[in-house]
Amino acid sequence: VFPPCASDYYQFDDLLTPEEQRLRKNVRAIMEKEIAPIMTQYWEKAEFPFHVIPKLASLGISGGTIKGNGCPGLSLTGSAIATAEVARVDASCSTFILVHSSLAMLTIELCGSEAQKQKYLPSLAQFRTIACWGLTEPDYGSDASSLKTTATKIDGGWILDGQKRWIGNSTFADVLVIFARNTTTNQINGYIVNKGAPGLKATKIENKIGLRMVQNGDILLNKVFVPDEDRLPASIPFRIQARLFIVVACFIWVVIIGGFGFIFTQLQSSILEDLNSFSNSLFITNNVLQQVLAVSRVMVAWQPIGISMGVYDMCLRYLKERKQFGAPLAAFQINQEKLVRMLGNVQAMVLIGWRLCKLYESGKMTAGHASMGKAWITLKARETVSLGRELLGGNGILADFLVAKAFCDLEPIYTYEGTYDINSLVTGREVTSVAGFKPAP
Ligand code: FAD
Repeated sequence: VFPPCASDYYQFDDLLTPEEQRLRKNVRAIMEKEIAPIMTQYWEKAEFPFHVIPKLASLGISGGTIKGNGCPGLSLTGSAIATAEVARVDASCSTFILVHSSLAMLTIELCGSEAQKQKYLPSLAQFRTIACWGLTEPDYGSDASSLKTTATKIDGGWILDGQKRWIGNSTFADVLVIFARNTTTNQINGYIVNKGAPGLKATKIENKIGLRMVQNGDILLNKVFVPDEDRLPASIPFRIQARLFIVVACFIWVVIIGGFGFIFTQLQSSILEDLNSFSNSLFITNNVLQQVLAVSRVMVAWQPIGISMGVYDMCLRYLKERKQFGAPLAAFQINQEKLVRMLGNVQAMVLIGWRLCKLYESGKMTAGHASMGKAWITLKARETVSLGRELLGGNGILADFLVAKAFCDLEPIYTYEGTYDINSLVTGREVTSVAGFKPAP
């Protein structure tokens, strides 16, 4: 039986709306009753429990903040709290949901046309179909924007060629959102590849030490055809289209009239500036991608919060129940210090996570905010689960006692969605205005 939640020491619940509190309670109850009893067994087998998908659907969180097309339209705070509650009981389940919802569905919502949203989102929101999100490649992980998978235009669609690595849910996903580079324009777009497309192959990555229930795959794309209607459009904002129209009109006027050297010189700089913003706008998909990553980094930051909450709950119960030297483990001062350090970490993590959500909801969150949150929270969670592992002694290395499982599950979370280092560099660039991603020449 999963221990009662004891980690809300600073009564964080008071900061939530009644709706968010209800959501939290509901998700906690379903996870503790339906998922907790089976998860260790599936984690050990490294299999995904397909039979629990209807139960995960009953959480009502697939699609998160997306409004319409059958999605729940939750606040970011609500969505984040739900993520923590899922991760408190099982991190693999929360990763399964985040890849499907906060990465794949959100990309379709932000980069897709109305027709694409209507076609894909309703069944994804019900988990009738499952999605994955393929950005990382074997040779491009942290440096994902250098990706090499290509999209070549042919009549009626596109041909995708390349490889993806680590893609969660990819071995069974119905809808695969794949990022590829246009061979003519160099632009990166998302392409929706449907399960069973000729030339598509996903092979499970074996022997993971964490998130073992999640099916991560190596994807091979060998001349996979994607029809035009399944390419996520890279729309050029109207403002830039209008400015470009004015610039081109001025340019033609100057060339036709000729001889107006002075006017031409004056216009030239404005033309170059607008052409520059036009060329930036060609990479609008990349910008939207940053938006997707910023939101999903907030969501991912709530996974270590949930994991730490679950580990604290486990440890508190264990220390009260187990006796050594004639006294419960909880009676030893050293153990109390560790327990309180864990509890303090959870309070600080929750408050940073909560503030991130509020910054996002008020339109003030930057990429640097999201990255620092993800980086710092996973760092603190690593300390928290490690203390928990210690407190359980030998049982701290057995998956059955959940703390060891949580300890292992945190490792991939520290690395995915931007490693600790990369997220620190994103924030570092924002606060110093100097990018530190490349080694000195
Ligand atoms: P590398 O980029 O090779 O980095 C290795 C080390 O070098 C890291 O410590 C890193 O911080 C450091 N490093 C790299 N560049 C720099 C730099 N400029 N400055 C300082 N340090 C640097 N991807 C998807 O697209 N979809 C998924 O669903 C998905 N799921 C995943 C699930 C799991 C379990 C895992 C482990 C990964 C998943 N990923 C997914 C991929 C994940 O996002 C990458 O693993 C991550 O971005 C790191 O890339 P890499 O593994 O290639 O490491």
